[in-house]
Amino acid sequence: MQQVRKVAVIGAGVMGAGIAAQVANAGFPVLLLDIVRDPADRNAVAAGAVAKMLKTEPAPFMSPAAAKLVEVGNTEDDLARLAECDWIIEAIIERLDLKQDLYRKIDAVRRPGTAVSSNTSTIPIADLVAGLPEAFARDFLITHFFNPPRYMRLLEVVSGAASDPDTVARISHFADAVLGKTIVACKDSPGFIANRLGVYWLQLGVLEAMDAGLTIEAADAVMGKPFGIPRTGVFGLIDLVGIDLMPHINASLTKLLPAGDDFHKAQRDLPLIANMIASGHTGRKGKGGFYRLNREGGRKVKESIDLATGTYRPEEAAKLPELADGGRDLRALLGGASPVSQYAWRVIGRTIAYAASLVPEATDEIAAIDEAMRLGYNWAYGPFELADRIGVDWLAEKLSADGVAVPELLKLAAGRSFYRIENGQREALGLDGEYHAITRPEGVLLLEDIKRTATPLLRNPSAALWEIGDGVTCLEFTSKSNALDTDILALIEESIALVRERFSALVIYNEGSNFSVGANLVKAMQSAQAGAWGEIETLIASGQAAYQALKYAPFPVVGAPAGMALGGGCEILLHCDATQAYAESYIGLVECGVGLLPGWGGCAAMLTRWQTLGKLPRGPVPATLKVFELISTAAVSKSAADAKAKLFLRPADGITMNRDRLLADAKARALALAPGYEPPAPVAVTLPGPAGYVLMDMAAEGMHARGIATDHDLTVARALATVLSGGDADPTVPVTEARLLELERENFLRLIQTEPTLARIAHTLATGKPLRN
Ligand code: NAD
Repeated sequence: MQQVRKVAVIGAGVMGAGIAAQVANAGFPVLLLDIVRDPADRNAVAAGAVAKMLKTEPAPFMSPAAAKLVEVGNTEDDLARLAECDWIIEAIIERLDLKQDLYRKIDAVRRPGTAVSSNTSTIPIADLVAGLPEAFARDFLITHFFNPPRYMRLLEVVSGAASDPDTVARISHFADAVLGKTIVACKDSPGFIANRLGVYWLQLGVLEAMDAGLTIEAADAVMGKPFGIPRTGVFGLIDLVGIDLMPHINASLTKLLPAGDDFHKAQRDLPLIANMIASGHTGRKGKGGFYRLNREGGRKVKESIDLATGTYRPEEAAKLPELADGGRDLRALLGGASPVSQYAWRVIGRTIAYAASLVPEATDEIAAIDEAMRLGYNWAYGPFELADRIGVDWLAEKLSADGVAVPELLKLAAGRSFYRIENGQREALGLDGEYHAITRPEGVLLLEDIKRTATPLLRNPSAALWEIGDGVTCLEFTSKSNALDTDILALIEESIALVRERFSALVIYNEGSNFSVGANLVKAMQSAQAGAWGEIETLIASGQAAYQALKYAPFPVVGAPAGMALGGGCEILLHCDATQAYAESYIGLVECGVGLLPGWGGCAAMLTRWQTLGKLPRGPVPATLKVFELISTAAVSKSAADAKAKLFLRPADGITMNRDRLLADAKARALALAPGYEPPAPVAVTLPGPAGYVLMDMAAEGMHARGIATDHDLTVARALATVLSGGDADPTVPVTEARLLELERENFLRLIQTEPTLARIAHTLATGKPLRN
């Protein structure tokens, strides 16, 4: 079996370029080819795509270094180089004749056994390999990535009748463990799973809103939150993907699906959409879409399309009495008589029914459909999970009252649910009417699964400690947004005492969307308003004590962040022996943004890191200035790879591409550190003292003079400079960690007692946004 060591992507458009970037993000070399458009600059298409990606936001590349792994070329001069590659991904335009023509050329040059896959959205695999050699068909599969390939976790994998199962398994494993995708195996049916259902839902959402005379704001409000669907709802999502794409996908699915398929019932010519496309109103990438920001006359006005007239009017937030309870009672919402309720029912009821009709044509597994919608459309619940929340029998009854044929699968589930938990194991209803355990791929370990059967070793309102096997424990934050508070600090101390006695290692990990957004400032704010400075002093001191105790604990501690790890959430990682980070980790010390500075050892830890690991000229000044720059600008890494460049992660720290594999990887790392573990020796850093302070002060004054920093930014920067220079430190005498922590405490306290800092904190707490004062 050929291991994947190098990948080729042909077609450097939206998808091909993004897929190539993700291969490079994973650290693998990739050859990106496109046609020759300009004979004088033969690689211009692929090279242009890479150059464009380096400027795109959100960034397709996780680091500039990744871009260097993409080698560009063209399909006239470089096709023979496909023999260097172990997986060739075709991502050219959606035309069968062009794709087949390319496959013939690929087959002539590829090494035997090299996997070839297509990123086609709609063309069946049987058509793609028709007339091609048997050996080619054996090595061929469909790997359907979602846009943007870096951020969308779903990968639909389709094997054909002739596909070699080993090749499919090998590519699926690489895409999962290396590229970080969750694989949903689909049958060879039109549009596979996510788009077949997703496009049906979107189209129905548009038609029904028009028929019901709803505003797009009302339609999106009811379609979003109550059903665990992103706030963009239907119209906001179409704006995001591009209004011009919709007619294409609809037309191509309409052509491929048999006459009796319910998909056709959601199809109708929509002059409004044709007009919008014709006038360039293709959504966010165009002049605006169903929603737009009208900048005419120098003002910025949010506007929405009136579905009846096709003209823009000012956007109006929908105030829906149906959602008075937040839409929690789904039956009340779906069963109501108002136009909004009826809209929700007509779209959601039929979407669930359509999902049920896709079994067994598109897949035999209901869990595959739910996973595809969760990861491909960011739904919190797939259609069958939604059906369970609503009630299977209630749904079936209401569908039949509407004259809609109840799908066989819904009948099969009558009196039951699609999922159940049996002995702590989640099971899904199968086509045989029995429940079957949902198994995880090897190497996937989820706290969610462990928690179903285990009781925590320790727990309080903000955190819990779990045993995760092999003598390893896991500290989980459970507070809102995983904000750090005194309960978490207390549980850290208790955990240390327990792990020391009975276990060999600790992993700090959770499955929230963000590892931690930082310290919970509500309590600190209340103390400050009451002038209870002693309480704040205790909070800082106890945070420092807890983090120091973690750092010097007699067992290894591994941090495992995913999403944001900010402020105190970053500082906890800085005190771990090692970090295993999900590739999409956004780490930073953002305290200066609210007029504070890192007070739980973040300044001390970053100084140590930059002095010992930073590739900088020798001496205390360069490292100090670098840390000053990172902290004073509240820099946040754009990925785990970027966090390494900023030393929020160490060079030796691990990166896991697939979020579901993070806990297993972190646990393995902790176990590797456990035999003969010795806590780190206390550190002392040489700091530049008053001379260094002057340099930082000058930098801050420069920013202030240019209007980039406010008066208060200058005050904050000076407090930070005091800490980072070591105060009155003598540059020939190393400063101890204890002294640095003392400086952090003093200066933190100084800042929190200023009015502008309190105003910034209050503003951030109220709005979630920083204040410039
Ligand atoms: P695109 O139009 O952005 O890019 C296609 C690229 O292929 C262009 O750069 C074009 O020059 C190149 N090309 C065309 N013919 C070629 C040939 N013979 N040899 C080499 N290069 C050639 O298209 P896209 O949106 O990236 O879609 C590519 C494929 O991915 C299609 O099959 C599409 O259905 C599928 N897909 C698209 C999306 C999406 O959201 N755009 C999502 C999933 C799958």
